[in-house]
Amino acid sequence: MCVLGFCNGESKSDVEYDPKIDQTYNSLPYSYEEMKNILSLYDDPNFRGNRLKRVNKRYRRIKNATQINRIRKYVVCYGSRYYKIRELDKMLIEQFKRWKDGRQIVRDRFLVDAALEIADKLHFETFKASESWLLGFKKRHNIVGRKITQVVTAKKPNVEADKAKLAKDFVGRVKVTIEDRHTPPEKLFNSDQMGLQLEMTSGRTLTFKGQKTVEAVVQNKNATTHSLTLLPTISAFGKLAVPVLTCFYEPKGAPACFERDLLRFKNLRCCWTKSGKVSSKIMVDWMKEDFLKMAPRRSILLLDSWSGFNQAKEIQEVKSKEINIITIPPKTTGIVQPCDVGFFRYVKAFLRTMEDKIRRMFPDFKISTRAHIACLLNQTIEQFCAPRYSSLIQHAFIKPGYVDKEYEEYSTPDHYCFNFSKVGARCGATDCGKLAFIRCSWCEKYLCFNHFIVKMHSCQNNN
Ligand SMILES: [Zn+2]
Ligand SMILES: [Zn+2]
Repeated sequence: MCVLGFCNGESKSDVEYDPKIDQTYNSLPYSYEEMKNILSLYDDPNFRGNRLKRVNKRYRRIKNATQINRIRKYVVCYGSRYYKIRELDKMLIEQFKRWKDGRQIVRDRFLVDAALEIADKLHFETFKASESWLLGFKKRHNIVGRKITQVVTAKKPNVEADKAKLAKDFVGRVKVTIEDRHTPPEKLFNSDQMGLQLEMTSGRTLTFKGQKTVEAVVQNKNATTHSLTLLPTISAFGKLAVPVLTCFYEPKGAPACFERDLLRFKNLRCCWTKSGKVSSKIMVDWMKEDFLKMAPRRSILLLDSWSGFNQAKEIQEVKSKEINIITIPPKTTGIVQPCDVGFFRYVKAFLRTMEDKIRRMFPDFKISTRAHIACLLNQTIEQFCAPRYSSLIQHAFIKPGYVDKEYEEYSTPDHYCFNFSKVGARCGATDCGKLAFIRCSWCEKYLCFNHFIVKMHSCQNNN
């Protein structure tokens, strides 16, 4: 018979943890195991002397029979079973707190599963995790169901903070290397892959108010998803290196005319793959044929952690030319990779504007054909090489902090070349006089589509 009134028959349902019992338990100065020992000493049928004295010898605080009675009641009523439910309760609420600290979604089912796991650890075979037990557990710990009001990514604030720290540390390390090696801006480079669609569109358009679907006509819908890859190299000095590796998307393999078709585009070094993405082998060739031929000895090259660069980073010529290739930590490229910080988006904006203009004014010029896209890219690169954009390219290295320098104001190529205010500007080529398509960033002349694109206007070699 249980005097405390909490005693259930062992086999009925799960024993409830109850703080009131715990108080009683805690007021007894001995652990459950010790209490069991006290009882077996006291109850030893073979002992004939003073049982209380015998117990007192080992357990000094047991001084009277009332204490023995309390212990007996406690052990008999609740026994190991109560001890276990108490442990289980403690361990489960710890688990629950860990889940909440990690902002996990917790359901009743998770609590039940965790409770059963803990019971297993405690060899608490009779524990059933009944509904009433679960209700009791939640009530005791003030756990209620709530609508999720905000969804966050696990560890989001930390990830952002970690990223910023990683980025800062990286720039710091690069700066130390720059100082140690006395690297001038002409010898600090960044190369990265830039994916482009064969046809670029602006993604925004003017339309009539209230129009539900806003469509844009492209020449070849396939070409807006299929891509090609460019690998521009820029320097902290403010220069875009040419030729730029350009990898074409040739799903069926390139035709025999591929090279011949593309040879005349001096600003591109063309290759192809079936996916339009560059391979490790292409990167090795690029390192040998393009980068190492262009870069001075003891240059520093910042490359991201893309595995396709790995082989190229290791080749012998890199070492013999004492090129220091520094790998940008993953996930920080948006903060510290100059191409991402302040170059690629200008190239994309330029291409979008140019292609939108071509679709509108020269619909017969099929943008996505191999030779045409190559021509547009060739002319785009030509413009980006103009000295007037050196401040723009320098800024891509200044902004992440590699170079401490004031930068001059610049206009973007997109703005300079296409947003000319001279209404009705005419082509400056001899005896032409057609409506201008573009303003050349080099010679500042307005040029028509024919003279700029078709005849491939070039000022670069004359400068
Ligand atoms: Zn020009
Ligand atoms: Zn013209």
